[in-house]
Amino acid sequence: MSLETSIIEKVEAIHAQLRAFDDRCLRVFASSSFQTQSLPLLHIVSTHTRAIDVVFLDTGYHFPETLSFRDQLAERLNLKVVNARSNVPKSEQRTSDGRLLFAADTDQCCYLNKVAPLEPYLQSHDVWLSGVRADQSVVRANMKKTIPGPHGITRYHPMLDWSAKDIHAYRMHYDLPAHPLESQGYLSVGCMPCTRPYLDTLGDGGATPDRGGRWSGQTKTECGLHTELANQGTAS
Ligand code: SF4
Repeated sequence: MSLETSIIEKVEAIHAQLRAFDDRCLRVFASSSFQTQSLPLLHIVSTHTRAIDVVFLDTGYHFPETLSFRDQLAERLNLKVVNARSNVPKSEQRTSDGRLLFAADTDQCCYLNKVAPLEPYLQSHDVWLSGVRADQSVVRANMKKTIPGPHGITRYHPMLDWSAKDIHAYRMHYDLPAHPLESQGYLSVGCMPCTRPYLDTLGDGGATPDRGGRWSGQTKTECGLHTELANQGTAS
């Protein structure tokens, strides 16, 4: 299956931007949740001439299938994956009445296990690549390709204008594997307590297929990485 010209041009534009960062000696890292939709960016990062660390937010609540998919891709694409974990032990991630935060306060749980562990990487790098796409949610639709982030970092969203169809075409072209849970109806795979198969959540409303199944039954659609850590008001 050959790639459409439009996809080839998008890939070339990403490589050109990465080379431009290199020319300025900027320190670049990528973050990835290792889903099927992460594949093009991971593949592009793996084929860039300079090594780029890929940070995986290892919340401790991931499906075993996600961890094995991460390891499988790291080996196949020769990725340097860095697992970022919370400094707060799970025994302390509880409310005063003893309930685990993922059941009682998902915002705080996401903060401790996703937002806070990313801090050291934001502080020590100049550019943060993430694979958000405009067609995934209203929040993401309002993003720009580059926006300022915390600690002076530049957030770069190279996949913003990619569609689900582009992702699929790229995956098929390079014969990349799908996340093992996709065949069981999980279109967006996050932590186990907060993810359900998409079809089971259709009645909840609001979510797009690419984010459907996350925080089902709540108004929450983002973990904070793309809201708390984005300065969208001064987007360029
Ligand atoms: S997605 Fe759920 S389990 Fe994972 S960090 Fe957020 S609230 Fe906690």
